[in-house]
Amino acid sequence: MSRFYGTKYKTMDRHVLLRDVDVPDIREYDVYVAHGGYAAWKKALTTMKPDEVINVVKDSGLRGRGGAGFPAGVKWSFIPKDIFPKYVVVNGDESEAGTFKDHQIIDGNPHQLIEGVALCAYAVQANTSYIYLRGEFYEPAQTLQRAIDEAYAHGMLGKNVLGSGFDLDVHIHLGAGAYICGEETALLSSLEGQLGQPRLRPPFPAVQGLYAKPTVINNVETLANVPPIVLHGAQWYRQYGTEKSPGTKVFCVSGRVNKPGNYELPLGKYTIRELIEMAGGTIDGRPVKGVLPAGSSAPILPAPLLDTKLDYESIQAAGSILGSASFVILDDTVDIVWAARKMVRFFKHESCGKCTPCREGTYWALKLYDKILSGHGTLADVDMIGEVAGQMAGKCFCLLGEFATSPMQSTLKHFRAEYEAFIANHQGGKMNGYADELIREGVIAGPEGVIAHH
Ligand code: SF4
Repeated sequence: MSRFYGTKYKTMDRHVLLRDVDVPDIREYDVYVAHGGYAAWKKALTTMKPDEVINVVKDSGLRGRGGAGFPAGVKWSFIPKDIFPKYVVVNGDESEAGTFKDHQIIDGNPHQLIEGVALCAYAVQANTSYIYLRGEFYEPAQTLQRAIDEAYAHGMLGKNVLGSGFDLDVHIHLGAGAYICGEETALLSSLEGQLGQPRLRPPFPAVQGLYAKPTVINNVETLANVPPIVLHGAQWYRQYGTEKSPGTKVFCVSGRVNKPGNYELPLGKYTIRELIEMAGGTIDGRPVKGVLPAGSSAPILPAPLLDTKLDYESIQAAGSILGSASFVILDDTVDIVWAARKMVRFFKHESCGKCTPCREGTYWALKLYDKILSGHGTLADVDMIGEVAGQMAGKCFCLLGEFATSPMQSTLKHFRAEYEAFIANHQGGKMNGYADELIREGVIAGPEGVIAHH
C-alpha cells in the first residue's frame, strides 16, 4: 500500500502514472509484468526503430515534468546521432520544497521508471544511464536498486536485451542533498564528482553533457510517462490534458489541507480550488490566503485566483509557474511575512555561492526579514526587500537566484499590507510568536529578544 495519503483519491479520470501504485507488491518484477509492465519495452525493441520511439513521444506532446516543461521528444531529437558514448541521466533530485511525486514513483512503482529509462536510452541509442537521487532518498534508492537487479535478472537490462543487440546499463547515484543539484548542469557536475554548481549554457547537455558527451536529462515523472505512451500511442495520451499541456500530471499538495498527498489529474481540467477540495479542504475550513503552485520557487497566487485551471499556460497567465506542481496551500492563519522569510532562508541556505547577486542578495534579504520578524523592522526595510529582489532579478547565473526573488516580489505585490501591519504590531522588538524560532536559529538572543546582529 502506498505510504502517501491522498493517492487513493480517484476521479473518473484515468491515472497514468499512479495507476498501479496501490497494487500490492507492484514493486516486484512479476507483479509489474502481470499488470502490463515491460510490454512497451518489448514492443519498442522488437517492432520500433529508435526514431519511431522519439517520434511517438514528440507527437504525444509530453512536456518535461521537472519544472521547465520543455517537450521531452523534442529534447531527445537534439541528441546527435553519430557521437558516442551517449548518456541518459535521470533527475531524481526532487529538491523543490513541497515536491514528493518522484519519491512516490520511485518507491511505489520503480519498474515503470526503469522501463521509461530503457525506452529513452533506446530512442537516443545511449548504452548507459545514471539515475541521480538526492542522498536523503536512501530508502527509495534501495527499492529502486532491487528493481534494477530484477530487471537485469530477467534480461530487461544488460547485454543484448531481449536478443535485440542493444546493451543498457543503469546505475543509481546518490547526491549529497543540495537544491542546486536539481539544476541539470549542476547535477552533471555533481555526477562527475565535481562541486555541484551550474555550468554556462551553451553548450547544452544534449551536445556536451556528462563527460562532455551527448546527454538526455529528464525528470523521473517525465520518464515514467513514456511506457504507456509507447504502448498506447500519442493520440491515446493526448486524450488527456489540453492541446498545449497534454496528459496527466501529479500534483503534490501540502500545507494547510486535511489530506496532503499526490493527486494525479489531467492537465487543464480542474482548478486550484477543486484541487484543494480533493485534498480534503483546508484545516478547520479556514479561508485560503494564497497558494504556491511550485513550492518556494513560484510567485504566490492570492485567493482571488483560485479558479485558475491547472495547466502550464493558465498558471503562467495568472502570474506564476506550474513548475513541478508542488502546491503549498496557505490559509488565513499563515503569516505571509513569516512564510516569505522561511523561503528566503531556504534559498540563502541553498545558494551555491557561485555568483554575487544570488550569494549576497539572499544574505541581505534574510537579514531584512530577520530584522522585521524580530520586531525591529521599518517600512524602509520593506522597500529595501523589494530593492534587493530587484537587484537580483535577471542577474543571477541560474534559476535558483531568480526563484529566490519570487517569495519577496510576489508577497510584496499581493500582501504588502501584511508587511506594514506586521511592522506596526511588533514595534520595539516586543516578544512575538516568531521569537522562539529566531532564538533557535541564533538570530536573536535570550528571552527578551535582544537582537544579536542586524
Ligand atoms: S544563482 Fe545562486 S545557485 Fe545559481 S549559480 Fe548563482 S549563486 Fe549559485
